[in-house]
Amino acid sequence: LSERLGGVFDKLTGRGALSEADVDAALREVRVALLEADVALPVVKDFIAKVRVEAVGENVIKAVKPGQQVIKIVHDALVETLGGDGPPEGLRVNGEPPNVIMMAGLQGSGKTTTTAKLALRLTKTDKRRVLMASLDTRRPAAMEQLATLGKSIGVDVLPIVAGQTPQEIAKRALTTARQSGHDVLILDTAGRTTLDDEMMSEASSIAQIAKPGETLLVADSLTGQDAVETAKRFHERLPLTGLVLTRADGDGRGGAALSMRAVTGLPIKFLGMGERAEALEPFDARRIAGRILGQGDIVGLVEKAVENVDRDEAEKMAKKMAKGRFDFDDMEKQLGQLIQIGGLKGVMGMLPGVQKMKNQISEASLDDKQIHRQIGVIRSMTKAERAKPDLINGKRRARIAKGSGVEVAEVNRLLKMHRNMADMAKRMGKGKSPIPGMPNMP
Ligand code: GDP
Ligand code: MG
Repeated sequence: LSERLGGVFDKLTGRGALSEADVDAALREVRVALLEADVALPVVKDFIAKVRVEAVGENVIKAVKPGQQVIKIVHDALVETLGGDGPPEGLRVNGEPPNVIMMAGLQGSGKTTTTAKLALRLTKTDKRRVLMASLDTRRPAAMEQLATLGKSIGVDVLPIVAGQTPQEIAKRALTTARQSGHDVLILDTAGRTTLDDEMMSEASSIAQIAKPGETLLVADSLTGQDAVETAKRFHERLPLTGLVLTRADGDGRGGAALSMRAVTGLPIKFLGMGERAEALEPFDARRIAGRILGQGDIVGLVEKAVENVDRDEAEKMAKKMAKGRFDFDDMEKQLGQLIQIGGLKGVMGMLPGVQKMKNQISEASLDDKQIHRQIGVIRSMTKAERAKPDLINGKRRARIAKGSGVEVAEVNRLLKMHRNMADMAKRMGKGKSPIPGMPNMP
């Protein structure tokens, strides 16, 4: 998305405020991006209308491109729609025991798997005594599945008794939980492949019996548009309290999250990130917003750039880099800016797909202190050396090391780093991404 917006706004740099025409041009792209992320059409329409109101007339921030600024506005609105910036809502399990969590959803959405995931989390992290019960009487294999999962994660499962109705099992589960001192009871219900009245009636009668403090709709994020219809229908019939989106590990787009949250207004509590019982993550609105925008935290980068980096300086640098030139004066400036923006780790964390590099950096313990030392080394170079790094032979290295109070090895490292950065500059000068295999920045 930011690539597209970059294109739309390249012509617009230097204006005072975002005009209606500017914003509309950008929002056309946002609309397409949201639809591509599989966000439901009515949700897209509402969202665009909301962002439009916020964006028109907004002052253009000098240090960033208007396109980037619109991304930021869109991003903030996404985060808000997804549930805001705060920590995700926890499970409501602090009432009179047994606290009942009821799982609802279509067959195959991941209810049984999520039941086990929640049970494991509550047992391990929250030190709760959890009992799980399968009310899926239609498929005997479903009860076995939960029993097996329970054994593998060490959580109690209600013994299977043949011939009982789901309502009877629910009552038995409540009694058992009370008698054996379980303070959380998770009820895994049966689903169907399609929405139907019988399933809804069954689920709502179970809810009446068990009085769950938490009724979670489990939905497959890969079903996109269908997930919205599912959420709507379940929400009409059941007192839902939250959503769990499964298969988020296979969903690079995050559109279902936005749609379901917007349509139901329910908090998304967890994301299923895989088949294993540990693969459950508390929902993070910022992360999903970033995913929908198809970026790492470009937004954070923009925010910090707004605060710190002088735009003219950056433009000069960009021009120089476009010619593929990058000397030690440039490097000193860049290192200085890096510290201003929040250190190397901070910046790397915001770029997409750089976790690996980030790890390498912490391994090399390339911290801010070291950046300051490197600036010191560069300052011990003569003017000629800075402009023509090739001049720096062994003798000069020793002198520079002495002048800046570091080992020669440190000077060597800096020279190597400079070579790498110069290579990147060359690549960027040719219009390629600075790092092989990484998407190009706007
Ligand atoms: P149920 O019919 O709603 O109880 O669905 P299940 O819990 O039996 O899950 C159906 C299938 O989806 C199983 O093969 C699970 O391993 C898989 N599954 C569930 N949650 C996730 C998830 O978050 N990620 C992935 N990749 N697979 C999942
Ligand atoms: Mg099941």
